[in-house]
Formats: sequence, structure tokens, C-alpha cells
Amino acid sequence: MYRNAKNVGYYMIGKGCLSQLGDLLGARRKVRSGPAVFFVDRFFEGRDLVASLPVESRDLVVYVDAAAEPTTESVDGYAAQVRDFLGGAEPCALLAFGGGSILDTCKCVGNLLTNPGKAEDYQGWELVRHPAPYKIAVPTLSGTGAETSRTGIICNEAKNIKLGMNSDFTMFDQVLLDPDLTATVPRNQYFYTGIDTYMHCFESITGSYRNVVVDSLAEKAIDLSKQIFLSRDMMSDENREKLMIASFLGGMAAGFVGVVHPVSAGLSMVLHMRHGIANCYALSVLEDIYPEQYRDFMTMLERQDIELPAGICRGLTEEQYTALYEATIVHEKPLSNRLGPDFRNILTKENVVERFKRM
Ligand code: ZN
Repeated sequence: MYRNAKNVGYYMIGKGCLSQLGDLLGARRKVRSGPAVFFVDRFFEGRDLVASLPVESRDLVVYVDAAAEPTTESVDGYAAQVRDFLGGAEPCALLAFGGGSILDTCKCVGNLLTNPGKAEDYQGWELVRHPAPYKIAVPTLSGTGAETSRTGIICNEAKNIKLGMNSDFTMFDQVLLDPDLTATVPRNQYFYTGIDTYMHCFESITGSYRNVVVDSLAEKAIDLSKQIFLSRDMMSDENREKLMIASFLGGMAAGFVGVVHPVSAGLSMVLHMRHGIANCYALSVLEDIYPEQYRDFMTMLERQDIELPAGICRGLTEEQYTALYEATIVHEKPLSNRLGPDFRNILTKENVVERFKRM
């Protein structure tokens, strides 16, 4: 059986294109009479961006905390809030303004508005039954590819697993990429998040589950990432636009990751570390598994003058090391993608714990 692959419906790229959001949303308001729901990174509360959005008095603005990764609990909470507000009405659109956490929150809440049950019921592949409301993504941070990927990643604390809602219904219908929005991102955050595209694309093309389209997208995203992070100023106007495009392509290429993302998921689950920086720590101890990418990454860190402070796993308890190992090794598909079915012989508990201790 061949898979019938879906891409994002519409996208707009260019400096200042946020000014066209009002027209795009206006068209939706003509199709559906319900209100719009805006998911906005709490960072923007009270700032110019929010004042410039086409919010009407009957709409809902939900400020989403991006300090931690989305969890099944946080997503269920936001879904309940939005459901209460809508009172059965069908929203004309859900909109997301922020980085991957905000975009993924919007995607997952969307699925829960049209499907019964809780977030954890849909963690996995092809579990969502009914189409979600129309969704618009406006990334204010580039790199995770959440704007184009078909997953919404959430941490399930009770089950100690980080897993997405993988479904065509999770995808956005419209994406707006305005590089002006990333001009004021702190440099460290820009790097940690931006490099995520490079990570999941090289994991994909060095794996064994491949296809030509995904490889082509991933190769271009890697090429752009190298141009950006090996240049002198990763945040120049040109590079910020390039990173938006790399992230966009990388999200479409997000198929199967390799060893970086499982190790990174361990850090997010146990130490509540943000995804981007967790990837950086993961690759920093995988020099034997990804030698070429490890070398490039070290050069990028140095060139952009980004620090990765050592000692993050120092002094953890045995239980915490065990939890880190378990939250890593549970990702069988990605690990076997790079290391083959016998990945447990390489990534023994001792081997994995030793890597965490070196971070
Ligand atoms: Zn990632």
C-alpha cells in the first residue's frame, strides 16, 4: 500500500506578510460564522504583536505558556477552556502565534474539539477520526517545523513518554511565514530552536526508512541550515528568512528521526528541558553515531558563540538515570532507523547513562 501524502494547504512567505492575515481570516469568517480562537505565546501578552492582530470582540485569545513542553494535561486544559468558550459553536479558525510548543498546542487542541476523549487517546499514528477546525500557523520562532509537520508533540508525564498526534488532521491549513517576527528572538533561543531542523533532517537521511521526496526536502533544509549556522551572522535578515524556509521544508521532511530525538526526549521528560536545547545536548554525546554532523555542529556552536553549559546531569539519583534511559529507549522506531533492530546491544543502559553523565 502506498501512502497518500498530504502537505500544508496554503503558505505565504515574505517580510511583512503578517499584514495580510486580516484578509485571510476575513475570508474564513465568511465561510463559518463562529468566533476565531487565537493561541498566543504568553511572551507576547501586552506587546505590539497582539495589538496588531485581527481579533474581534467575540473571539478568544488564549495565552499559552511556552516555559515547558506541552503535556497531555496542558492540552486537555486548553481544550476544555476553548470548548467551554465555544459552547458548541464551530470556530471559523484556530490561529497559533509562537514557536513549536504553541503551534503544537493549537494542533492538538484542534483535534480534541472534533474528537471525543483526551489528548493521550490520540498519541500515536492515525488515531484521529474527524477533521479538526481550520487552522492558521504564524511561527515567531523557526526550526521545529511544527508549521508543516503532521504531528503535535506532547509529553505524557504519567506514561513517561513524549509522543505526537500523528495525523493528516493535525496539519495546518494555512501558514504565514514573516521573518520580521524572528528579529527580536534571543540569540541562544534562536540557535537552539533553529538547529532542530538540521537535526531531524540529518537523522532522517542517515536512517534506513527513506523516500526520495523526504530525502530531497531534508537535503535542502540541511544545506540551508549549514549556510545559516556556518555564516558569520545567523540572524541577518537574509538568514532569518532562510531559516523560516529551512524549518518549513524540514517540517515536511519530518518522517523518521534517529538517535538525537530519543535522547532529547529523555531530557524533556525527566528534566523538563526544552526540545531545542535538549537536542543540542543529545548530539554533543553522539559523536560516535553521527561523527560528521557532530563536527559540523561543534563548528556552528563556536561560530555563533553559543554555549552549552556542562554538567546538566551531574548529581542525579539512580532513579532519574533509569528514567532517562527508559524515556530514551522506548523510541524503538527512530533508534532502529539509525542503529538497526539490535539497537539495544549498542544502547545498553550503561552506555546510555554514561552519555547522559557526560552532558
Ligand atoms: Zn525536533
